[in-house]
Amino acid sequence: MTLPNFVKPVLDQAADLGLMAIFFLVLALLVKGAKAWSDARAAAEETRINLILYGVDQVLMTPIVVLIAAAFAQTVHAMGWDAPGAALWDKFGGIATAFIAVFLADFLGYWRHRLQHSALLWPGHAVHHSDTQLTWFSLNRMHPIDRLGTILDLIGLTLLGFPTWAVALAVMVRHYYGAFIHADVPWTLGRFSWVFNSPAMHRWHHARDEEISGKNFATVFSVFDRAFGTYYCPGPCTVPLGIEAPMAPGALGQYLYPLQVWFSPRPQPVETH
Ligand SMILES: [Zn+2]
Ligand SMILES: [Zn+2]
Repeated sequence: MTLPNFVKPVLDQAADLGLMAIFFLVLALLVKGAKAWSDARAAAEETRINLILYGVDQVLMTPIVVLIAAAFAQTVHAMGWDAPGAALWDKFGGIATAFIAVFLADFLGYWRHRLQHSALLWPGHAVHHSDTQLTWFSLNRMHPIDRLGTILDLIGLTLLGFPTWAVALAVMVRHYYGAFIHADVPWTLGRFSWVFNSPAMHRWHHARDEEISGKNFATVFSVFDRAFGTYYCPGPCTVPLGIEAPMAPGALGQYLYPLQVWFSPRPQPVETH
């Protein structure tokens, strides 16, 4: 019996998710001991919402993002775009190209993430920040509108002329490292934090206090935040997480939140005589 075409990618995805769940469960048990269980119970309700957002994202948004990025790449090639970097990547060879692709993808992601914190785009990105019990799986708490922003990273890498394999590798590395920095472990990574982002650093980015959450925008490297004045990591994060604004509970509340903010009538200034 042959399985329908869509079954294999779904099984692959489920296996990948299962392995990641086991990895982060073992990590939590090693770092926190029995407290890992009570922390997991505390995060259960938000994880349930994250699972719904993740499922919709995989079925709806991932194909849309891949299709738009592929259509853009095809159009650029058809127009004869001579990417300035393409010849360079050929000369550099595989390992250097892979490293530069991840590094530049993180640079583009840094600026895209800063844009997502602008007044206009924040309502969409606030959904990612609404999780108060951050776990590795919180990476997948993302509103579809916010998710469209990742197309900018792919467009940037395409314009720089990276081969498809290097773009795919950069996406994969940033995805797994992204899960790592959301993990509920207090690690600052010590001296490695001069170069790499840490779970503590990203946890500060999820602080409820907006002054603090306006820091630490990159995913893999800390060097961009250090270079552009947005680095903040005084130690393991100890402040409440989430957002200040009220958001209706459940997955539906998450989906509706940005639309409510964008389309609700603004309060009129009170006239004084
Ligand atoms: Zn953010
Ligand atoms: Zn995050």
